[in-house]
Amino acid sequence: MNDTAGLDFIRQIIADDNASGKHDGRVCTRFPPEPNGYLHIGHAKAVCLNFGIALENSGQCFLRFDDTNPLKEEQHFADAIERDVHWLGFDWEDRLTHASDYYQQFYDCAVKLIEAGKAFVDEQTADEIRATRGTLTEPGKNSPYRDRPVADNLDLFKRMRAGEFPDGVYLLRAKIDMASPNMNMRDPAIYRIRHASHQRTGDEWPIYPMYDFAHPISDALEGITHSLCTLEFEDHRPLYDWVLDNLDLPYRPRQIEFSRLNVAYMITSKRKLAELIEQGQVGGWDDPRMPTIAGLRRRGYPPAALRDFCERVGVTKKDHLIEMALLENCVRENLNEHAPRAMAVLNPLKLVLTNYPADQTELMTAANHPNRPELGKRDLPFSGELWIERDDFMEDAPKKFFRLKPGGEVRLRNAYIVRCDEVVKSDSGEVTELRCSYDPDTRSGLPGASRKVKGTIHWVSAPHAISAPVRLYDRLFTIPRPDMDKDGRDFKEFLNPESLQEKTDAQLEPALADAMAGDVFQFERVGYFVVDQEHSQPGAPVFNRVVTLRDSWAKQEKAALQALEK
Ligand code: ATP
Ligand code: MG
Repeated sequence: MNDTAGLDFIRQIIADDNASGKHDGRVCTRFPPEPNGYLHIGHAKAVCLNFGIALENSGQCFLRFDDTNPLKEEQHFADAIERDVHWLGFDWEDRLTHASDYYQQFYDCAVKLIEAGKAFVDEQTADEIRATRGTLTEPGKNSPYRDRPVADNLDLFKRMRAGEFPDGVYLLRAKIDMASPNMNMRDPAIYRIRHASHQRTGDEWPIYPMYDFAHPISDALEGITHSLCTLEFEDHRPLYDWVLDNLDLPYRPRQIEFSRLNVAYMITSKRKLAELIEQGQVGGWDDPRMPTIAGLRRRGYPPAALRDFCERVGVTKKDHLIEMALLENCVRENLNEHAPRAMAVLNPLKLVLTNYPADQTELMTAANHPNRPELGKRDLPFSGELWIERDDFMEDAPKKFFRLKPGGEVRLRNAYIVRCDEVVKSDSGEVTELRCSYDPDTRSGLPGASRKVKGTIHWVSAPHAISAPVRLYDRLFTIPRPDMDKDGRDFKEFLNPESLQEKTDAQLEPALADAMAGDVFQFERVGYFVVDQEHSQPGAPVFNRVVTLRDSWAKQEKAALQALEK
């Protein structure tokens, strides 16, 4: 027996089914996106779950486009979805399908239901149908067309298919139970007339099946064993089962629902995301502030961090809000291990070494990663004119400020200890330059370098530095649940006006000029930054902030201070 302790409830069901031989030990899942928008972080959870379960069980997972609504779906969305699923690290091999591949089968199934007296063609108006549906406490009323003879139903349905009637005149409904406590069972619509061109089938079909009818049939045709979906489909499960019970299909899948992933400060409604794009609040589906997979990719989130996040979030039936910190920590953990280090100054302040030989340049050696020597080393040019971070200097510094202050000493990372001798200011009193002296006996890595000071700051050599645009991204919304506001305020009222700040005067170490689109670096002491895929040119990178160092840096700083106090 395999040890199944610690499995989530879905994996437990699958393990039980495997043990009992229910599906002959087969495991087959599907991820069924509608190509009407880009995938978002919530879809990432469904992708990881469906493809992950297939992998773990030596099973198979289909990528099936649920393309039953031609008015909202577009090929470029389907292309983006394929790209994103691959980027997340999953492969459907030859199992890329479309609900539209099965239009003929859906049609044949509908004919079978009609022949069996289990579906009828209604001709009430949409308003009449709504008015006779009943409520949660009152049963609905049978349609006057409910008992139309089978032959007439067949004739009308065939003529619907032949395109004889305009939109909305007829509707095929399942004949179930207008008194069912479950509204979804009150003679639900299963086919409607819609004269619309479909992105794959063109004008072949003037009628389109409803999701609740097409989905179980698609699952059954593909041999899906476990059809995993989000909780809002729980009330649709009786209909899912009814469709399968009343048709003779090759496989019998089981629908299992789990709770949606909701992440604080993010929205995951495609409609709302589209609205942000239409109104120009963000640059597009792949704007680095968007909760879309494409946005997170451009933001520099590694796919492994997203997979890790989805795993840590787990699978339950309880609705809950996941802290953004959890997602950011997965990203930090991954990048801390993988991202090479670099030096970059975002808010530069000039530091001049008055005792450094004019025109001299030294090459300092810097490790590309503090604990992964296999990532190698690089040369950092050092000179008598440097940039340091403006907030690494304080004129009236508190006692615990261990960075640079007048008369104080600090180590320049990978270089020397310097002392601040003089502060130069503009007429308006702004500090414009620090005049310092360096201690030539303190070069990092040399035997004489053992003298210690409490603070270490980063720098770049001014004559060697490159400047590059750096975009500081922050969360898109100012409140954790912008989509759930009780006072009826629109979610766009909670957009964070500071979600993007652009730095134009950042100074970077020269090696960063060669960084390639998609490369991620830790700018030491500053954060993680990715070379933007869209705006960078060879030799002229544009950087996006992936995530701050905040949490880890606070800890690191504390540990460093504690070590010094000993
Ligand atoms: P929207 O309501 O924004 O249009 P959707 O859920 O209808 O999104 P689909 O393309 O139909 O989008 O979703 C494909 C699959 O992804 C479905 O099986 C759905 O249950 C799942 N899914 C969508 N959103 C989430 C989420 N937030 N968490 C987990 N799974 C999700
Ligand atoms: Mg959907």
